[in-house]
Amino acid sequence: MKVTFPHFGSTWVALKALFDKNGVECIVPPKTSKRTLSLGVKYSPETMCLPYKILLGNIIEGLELGADTVINVGGPGLCRLGCYAALHEQALKDLGFKFETIIFDWQEQQIVGLVKCVRRALNTTRPWIEVVGDVKFGLQQLILMDDLERQVHRVRPRALDKGAVARLWRDAGERVSAAHTPEALRKVKKDLFNELNSIPQNPNANPLRVGLLGEFFMAIDPFCNMDLEAELGDRGVEVVRAAFLTNWAKVWLFLAALGLSHDREVKKAASPYLTRDVSGDAVQSLGETILHQREGFDGIIHLMPFTCLPEIIAQNIFPRVTKDHSIPVLSIVLDEQMGRAGLLTRLEAFVDLMERRRARPGLKLAPVHD
Ligand code: SF4
Repeated sequence: MKVTFPHFGSTWVALKALFDKNGVECIVPPKTSKRTLSLGVKYSPETMCLPYKILLGNIIEGLELGADTVINVGGPGLCRLGCYAALHEQALKDLGFKFETIIFDWQEQQIVGLVKCVRRALNTTRPWIEVVGDVKFGLQQLILMDDLERQVHRVRPRALDKGAVARLWRDAGERVSAAHTPEALRKVKKDLFNELNSIPQNPNANPLRVGLLGEFFMAIDPFCNMDLEAELGDRGVEVVRAAFLTNWAKVWLFLAALGLSHDREVKKAASPYLTRDVSGDAVQSLGETILHQREGFDGIIHLMPFTCLPEIIAQNIFPRVTKDHSIPVLSIVLDEQMGRAGLLTRLEAFVDLMERRRARPGLKLAPVHD
């Protein structure tokens, strides 16, 4: 059995460790690249959203390297993501690939479903309690990656050597994935935070603060968003992102099982504008924008893939939100045609706008929209 899976933030870190520890061959697809995108685009209907195409490209690259089993995410839901695992499987079988798919349905049985899925992927009869231990350890690895990334976002705009921050973050996944025991994980956590916090910082820095919101996959995937967090950090802007894998896991694997939700405050803030669950992250995009404005953020960047219905709804409500709450929002629509130079020009203009607003707080500037 040779297992592969599409990239989804740092999930590869925990999955690679899990399979290596259990002696199952794991093929991590190459980092998402232009080749991944062109493969996805080539074999996808044109109007599919970018996540569909990127995930398909990742799986093709994993299968090309010899994988015979694909782990994918699926399940019912309002957004199209729920159908992607089945559609990917059909498209790839039509292309002649031979493999088995294991679908993790995140809305069915939550944490129990995840453990079942892992047992199947490991092809094991090991006691449930041991597999639960492995899943818990994997979640701890992901929590470490998310905590480290938040700290990277904080340190980057203040760091005097930004290259050192980038190098540390680039190597962190391999280091965390190589930690197979709780002791090793504790050590790597201590080392990574010590190294990051010892990078010299400008003590007088007072960076602009931007909330990065929008579609989950666009927000967490640096290839799709053209490494926007690093670009802003290198320009001295602190990025605060709402989307993190472990936040998502907390809601869907644990709180949902208990009929609870962590984002009551976000929904309450968004309620004058959108009360209905339109799936995706639309409510969160609107609610977080209002909460960020109350916390004194300088601006919001809203990311959405072309043809994403939930975020189109949010985008259309943004003009009212920005008018009522006086916070500039830059909406960026991402697809395979997006050019890096154009994105950077718009980012620079937005940073300039936020600087002028900060320098002259009473200044009325029109919010920026696509
Ligand atoms: S939220 Fe939008 S972009 Fe994301 S998977 Fe659903 S439809 Fe596609």
